[in-house]
Amino acid sequence: MAATYDAIVVGGGHNGLVAAAYLARSGAKTIVLEGRAKTGGAATTEAPWPDAPEFRVTRLSYVMSLLPPTIIRDLDLNRHGYKIFPMGPYYQAFPEGGSIKLYADDAKRNHEEVSKWSKKDADAMPRWDAWLAGLADVLGPLLLTVPPNLGSHQARDLAGTLRLAWRNRGLDVRTIGDVTRLMTMSIADLLDDWFESDQVKGALAVNGVIGTWAGPYEPGTAYVMAHHSIGDVGDGHLGNWGFQEGGMGGVSSAIEAAARSHGAEIRTNAKVARILVTGGRATGVVLENGDELQARVVVSTLHPKTAFLEQVGREHLPDDFADDIEHWKTRSGVVKINLALSELPDFTADPGSQLQEHHTGSVEMAPTMEYIERAFQDAREGRPAARPFSDGVIPTAFDKTLCPEGTHIMSLFTQWVPSDWNAEPHTEELEAYADRMIDCYTELAPNFKGSILHRDIVGPHEMEEEYGLIGGNIFHGELSLEQLFHMRPAPGYADYRTPLPGLYYGSSATHAGGGVCGIPGWQAARAAIADRKASRRTSQLRRVTRRA
Ligand SMILES: Cc1cc2nc3c(=O)[nH]c(=O)nc-3n(C[C@H](O)[C@H](O)[C@H](O)COP(=O)(O)OP(=O)(O)OC[C@H]3O[C@@H](n4cnc5c(N)ncnc54)[C@H](O)[C@@H]3O)c2cc1C
Repeated sequence: MAATYDAIVVGGGHNGLVAAAYLARSGAKTIVLEGRAKTGGAATTEAPWPDAPEFRVTRLSYVMSLLPPTIIRDLDLNRHGYKIFPMGPYYQAFPEGGSIKLYADDAKRNHEEVSKWSKKDADAMPRWDAWLAGLADVLGPLLLTVPPNLGSHQARDLAGTLRLAWRNRGLDVRTIGDVTRLMTMSIADLLDDWFESDQVKGALAVNGVIGTWAGPYEPGTAYVMAHHSIGDVGDGHLGNWGFQEGGMGGVSSAIEAAARSHGAEIRTNAKVARILVTGGRATGVVLENGDELQARVVVSTLHPKTAFLEQVGREHLPDDFADDIEHWKTRSGVVKINLALSELPDFTADPGSQLQEHHTGSVEMAPTMEYIERAFQDAREGRPAARPFSDGVIPTAFDKTLCPEGTHIMSLFTQWVPSDWNAEPHTEELEAYADRMIDCYTELAPNFKGSILHRDIVGPHEMEEEYGLIGGNIFHGELSLEQLFHMRPAPGYADYRTPLPGLYYGSSATHAGGGVCGIPGWQAARAAIADRKASRRTSQLRRVTRRA
C-alpha cells in the first residue's frame, strides 16, 4: 500500500524545508523527501576532513542576506536557532601595496577609504549609494511578487499584469531609464560611468559576477550586482550580509526545526526517482528503492532539468515547456575552497595576525575589473583561471562553534573553471587551481600558505553529483536576463505552478532564487495552499448544488 500524504516535498534544501513548514502550518499532512543523508542542500555545514572532525565548514553557500522578515517571523526562526552575525567590511589588499575597505552603512568611513585612491570617486560614492538604494527600492518588492504571465490573454493574467503596472505607477521616466540601464548594462560599463579608480571599480564589481558565467564586461552583470545589493524586499529591512552561527547548515536546521514543529515529517536517504502522473495530474512519487508515496500536492525543489526532464518526463509535458527546460542555462565555473587555518592572514598592507576589522567581512581577490575579466576569459577559452577571482570570508571571526579555539575557517568562493568541468572530476587540475588561488592570497599575506591545516575543494562535478546542482550552477540556473522574472523557469510558468495540476515548483530556478532566501519555497507552498482552498470551495459548491 502506498503511503498517503496531503503534500510531498521533493528535496530537503532550504526551499523544500520552507515549503514544508508552510504546508504543514496550513494543516496539510506533509513529508519532505531528501536524497542525501542530511537536509540543507547547498545551505549545509559539514566536517569534510575525517581525521579532523573538530573543523566544520559551510561547504557551499557561505553568507546570508535575502531571507525576508516575513519568513523569519512566520516560522519563528530565531527561536529555532537562526542567528546572524553582521559581516564586517569588504576588504581588498593590493599587490602594489595599500588596501581598501568598504562598509555597508558607514558613509564617512567609505569617504576616507575611497579618498585614498581617488578624491573624485570618494565624492561620487554617496550619490552612487543613493542611486543604488533608489533602484533597490524598485527591484526589492519585485522579489516578493509573483511574476505576471506576460502575453497571456486570460482575464486573470491580464489583471496580474495591470496590478503590477498600477503598483509601479509612481515610477518616472528617469527611474525607468535607470532600471533599463541596470538590467542591460555590464557592471564594468556602469562603473566606468561613475568612477575612475581601478581599485574602487574592482571592489564594486565583485557582486556583479558572483555565481555568474560572465565576466564584468558582459551585459546583464549590472543587474546581478543589484540583486546582491537589495536591502528591502518590501516587508521590512533585510539584514546586511551576515554569517549564520554554525554555518549555513544552521539556517537549514532552523527551518527544519520549524517545519517539524508544525508536524512535517522529514525523511533523509530518500531519493526520488519519478514523479507519478495519473490522468494528466501529479499524484505522488516513487523513490529509488521502489517505495511509492501518494499526495494531491507535490512540490519539487530540485534543479529544473532533474525535476521535469528526468522525474516527470517529456511525455507528460507540453513540448514548448520541455524545450525551454532543455535549453535552460546552468553554467557557472565556481570552485569552493574551504580551509582550516592555524592563524589569521597577516596582510602586508595591514599587518598582524590578531583579529582585526579587515578579517571580519569579505577578504577579496578582485583587485581590478581587468583581473576579474582575465579570470573569466581564461575559463571561456577552456582553461581554469591562471589567477582566480575569490570572494573570501572568515566566519570564525565571530562564530566560535566551527573550529577549536585559536584556529579559523576560511571559505573561498572562487571563479572560474571551464563551464564543462561538471562532466568530469578534474581532481588534479582542481588541486593545481587551488594552489594558484592560495598563492595569490599569499602574495598579499605572506603567512597564508603556511597557516593552512586542511583544505577541501568542491568543483562543479561534485556540486552536480553530490548536491544535484546540474552544470555546477550555484542558483539552479543562471541569473541572466533571459532567465529572470516571468522567464524563470519558463515563460507561462513563473507562478510556481507547472503544466501538471498538482505539481508545484519552488527551487532557486524560480523567481527570487537563487540564493538562500526561501522565497521560492514560500511561494510554491502559497500557490499549493491557495489551490487546495479553491478546490475545496469548488467541491463544497458542487455538493450544495447537487443537493439543491
Ligand atoms: C558554492 C556555492 C556558494 C553559494 N553561496 C551563496 C551565498 O553565500 N549566499 C546565498 O544566499 N546563496 C549562495 N549560494 C546559492 C544558494 O546556496 C542556493 O541558491 C540555494 O541554497 C538553493 O536552495 P534550494 O533549496 O532551492 O536547492 P538545493 O539547496 O539545491 O536543495 C535541493 C535538495 O534536493 C536534494 N535532491 C536532489 N536530488 C534529489 C532526489 N532525486 N530526491 C530527493 N532529493 C534530492 C538535494 O540533495 C538538495 O538537498 C551558493 C551556492 C553554492 C553552490
